[in-house]
Order: sequence, then C-alpha cells, then structure tokens
Amino acid sequence: MLQTHHYTSSTQGLSSLTTLLTTPTASLLIDPPFLLTDAHKLLTWLQSLLTPSNPLKAIFITHHHPDHFFSANPILDAFPGTRLYAAPYVLARIDHEYAQKVAYWTSVFGAENIPAAPRKPEPYPFSFFVLGGHLIMLLGPVVGDCVDQTVFWIPGNRTVVAGDVVYGRSVHVWVEELESPALLHAWQKTLDLIERLQPEHIIPGHMEAGWELDAKADLAHTRRYLDLFAEKIAHAPAKMPVAELYGVFEREFPLCCENRDFFLGHMANQFGEGGTVWEENRHPDVRGRTGEGLNGYLFE
Ligand SMILES: [Zn+2]
Repeated sequence: MLQTHHYTSSTQGLSSLTTLLTTPTASLLIDPPFLLTDAHKLLTWLQSLLTPSNPLKAIFITHHHPDHFFSANPILDAFPGTRLYAAPYVLARIDHEYAQKVAYWTSVFGAENIPAAPRKPEPYPFSFFVLGGHLIMLLGPVVGDCVDQTVFWIPGNRTVVAGDVVYGRSVHVWVEELESPALLHAWQKTLDLIERLQPEHIIPGHMEAGWELDAKADLAHTRRYLDLFAEKIAHAPAKMPVAELYGVFEREFPLCCENRDFFLGHMANQFGEGGTVWEENRHPDVRGRTGEGLNGYLFE
C-alpha cells in the first residue's frame, strides 16, 4: 500500500507543504522546506515515519521557487544515498536564478536559516517513477504560480501532489508572477487538467497548519483567486492604486491571515499604480511564453 503524508512548514517558511510517500519497501519526498529550522523539525517527523525497511530513495522538487527546495541539505545529509531530482525544465529555471535568490534570501533570513549552498537537483529524465510497485506520473511542464512546474499524479490513490498549482484555502495565492494574460490562462488550464483527473485528494503547495486537506475546496479557492485576479488586474480597464488593490484581495479572502505583506505586498506593488516592482523576480522571457507553447499539450 502507498500512503501519503504531509508536513507544514512554519509561517515564516511560508507554510509550504512537504509530501512524503511511503510504501512497505521504499519512500520518497516531494518539496523539502524553505528554511533550515523547518528542515530540522521535518527530520524528526521523517524519522518517525521511516524505518530501515522503507528507506528514503529520492527527493523531488515541483518547481524552482526557493520555498520548495532550499533546505534539502540536512535531509540529504541525514539520509545518505538519497537522490535529489527535478524535471529538466525545473532545473533550468533553478540555474537561471540560483545565485541571485541565494543572496537575496540569505539577506532576509540570515545564514542560520538558508544553507550557504542549497543543493541543486539532478535532472530526472523520466515522465514517471515506480515506488514500491506503485506508479506515479510527472505531469509537466505546466503553469502554476510560475512557469515550468511538475504536478505528481498517483492514479492508484487518486491523489495529486500539486505543488504551487493549487493553494490551500488558508493562504493568499502567489499571483505576482502572472505577468501576461497567457500565463493566467495557462494556470487556469492546469486547474482544468487536475479537475479532469477527478482526484480524491490534492496536496497543495501551501496551507497553514491546522487546516484539513479538501481537494474540491482548495481547487475552488485557487480558481476564485485567479478569477479575481482576471477581473481586477489582468482584464481590468485601468490600474488600481497599490493600497486599494491590496485591500480588495485582503477583504475578499478574510481567512487568509498570514504572510499578507509577502503575498499581497508584492502582488499590489507589481500590478498597482505607483508600485515598486520586484525587478529581480521578473520572468526572463515573458513575451516568448505564449499560449501555444504553454498549453502545447492541449489538442482541442
Ligand atoms: Zn511556494
């Protein structure tokens, strides 16, 4: 039997989720935490779930954002022989911004919270893996809160490990990188894809501790967020002032209480009138990423 378990990082670590897949003979982790403090706590949790008979074989990364891989180091140190993998398109995006993001986040959280050299994944050449006899498929590249993400589909359990394609309903959605209508549309198409799989369980990329997983509610939350983004930003007749834009999303999602300055602050500055744009975080080739390429998997 394959079982899924998830671990929620601290609020400071943006409440990102780490997923553990266990079988009687082998285990696998998806998305290590952002911060070292969370990774050390996660190690204790892992040690309670792993035994010598179901060793940790590999760690996979869904996408290039630092909050989904920066603190793999202590886990890899604790489980020698475990491989760190990402799809080649994820690795390409990590390579593109690695030095800049390590310097930036170390300046925010300090060297005690960010490894000096977060381990980079090796490119994983397959579109699936078999864990203890169970098939898991890598669906990607797809668009979520950034381009070039992998969604993991476990058909036997009807479970999706969604990374930042689906956000739990306790958190604001990172829409700051939706720099073109094509990216917004492509993310909505990824949500359609997940819905068509008819999953019973979805493990989102972020969710506050204490909230239960709810596949339908979390999908609906992410959709509603993108719909509001479409109405107020992507297809709005005029730009709103920064504070007004911040307030619209804050009021519309009152249950999302944590990390508002990070999620809403960056979003409102990126798209609001008079905002200070986070230039270093811009997509290097946003005009080159058209719908034709982003949704090239759709034949309809
Ligand atoms: Zn994230």
